[in-house]
Amino acid sequence: MSSLLVTNIGQLVSWDADQPIREKAAVVLEGGRVAWVGSSAVTPLADERIDVDGATVVPGFVDSHTHLVFGGDRAEEFEARLAGKPYAAGGIRTTVAATRAMPTPQLRVRATRLAAEALHSGTTTLEIKSGYGLTVADELRSLEVAATLTAHRTFLGAHVVPEGSDAASYLQLVKGPMLDAVAGVASAIDAFCEEGAFDESQCREVLAAGAARGLAVHVHANQLRPGPGAQLAASLGALSADHCTHVTDDDITALRDAGVVAVLVPAAEFSTRSAYAPARALADSGVTVALATDCNPGTSFTTSMGFVIALACRELGLSPLEALRAATTGGAAALGQSDLGHLRVGAHGDLLVLDAPSYVHLAYRPGVDLVRHVIRRGEVVR
Ligand SMILES: [Zn+2]
Repeated sequence: MSSLLVTNIGQLVSWDADQPIREKAAVVLEGGRVAWVGSSAVTPLADERIDVDGATVVPGFVDSHTHLVFGGDRAEEFEARLAGKPYAAGGIRTTVAATRAMPTPQLRVRATRLAAEALHSGTTTLEIKSGYGLTVADELRSLEVAATLTAHRTFLGAHVVPEGSDAASYLQLVKGPMLDAVAGVASAIDAFCEEGAFDESQCREVLAAGAARGLAVHVHANQLRPGPGAQLAASLGALSADHCTHVTDDDITALRDAGVVAVLVPAAEFSTRSAYAPARALADSGVTVALATDCNPGTSFTTSMGFVIALACRELGLSPLEALRAATTGGAAALGQSDLGHLRVGAHGDLLVLDAPSYVHLAYRPGVDLVRHVIRRGEVVR
């Protein structure tokens, strides 16, 4: 088992309980895991050694909410929205049609390219949802493509009711034959709880059916207006309620009491010029907050967690340290993973070497690629 020493770290963010940030540090990775953390003055021997010359090291980003498998793009819709023009109804259904029409090898190449783009910018763990197939065969192949890229793949058959179907019969399909087909490939289930998508009882049925098959639960909740999504997530013991743009004080209390992670996706609000989620109220109430890209062709076509961190500081009122925590351990909590998103001994050996004197530069220098090296599972991949 080969080992790698990363030394001469100027500032190390490890999220260690006693010393979350340390200066003049070093880390040893072995067997894909963190084996040792300490001072760069006295380090153990290792097979390989990287001297980072005073750079900052942080855990790799954990992006817990993406829709990376899709066909087509919606640049025209985006341009029209910026011009203030009403755009043709369709949204998700436009992407559903393009995804269904795309041959699997091409779908795989495109998703792989986006996953590589995410990795290049520091995302060492990625969740990927289906939801642009909406037939048994198309949902299955979307999740099979996701399975080539990540262990965290989420079945989102309950994204919208596809054209030519009615809600009642489509739901029977989702929680019956579709769930049967994907249960062996998906690790989690999600539903879009929103006017125009699915109501509370419909989401509850689908999510409970997934949970009964051993899938973890996520909910697209309270994105466009106040609604029952966050409370539904709390009552189901979901891992996360995602978006949370329009949550009330009662919703926040319910999320906190149930230990549900609030996954915030400010790049979606940036892209659609919508109000931002009340991150401060969530964090101050003791809700675990995660940051994610929500990468999708309609409302947030970015894979950059650095951009999301900068937005979270500027627009959500999180401090740079809170934003980094939300982008690392927060994302890991949203995926139910305790060995990700930090650099304590035993964690996955996922870290970023930043061309910066401190983690603050992630927010302070928006739009700048500060990532010098990406190390995933102990391997230097950039
Ligand atoms: Zn989403």
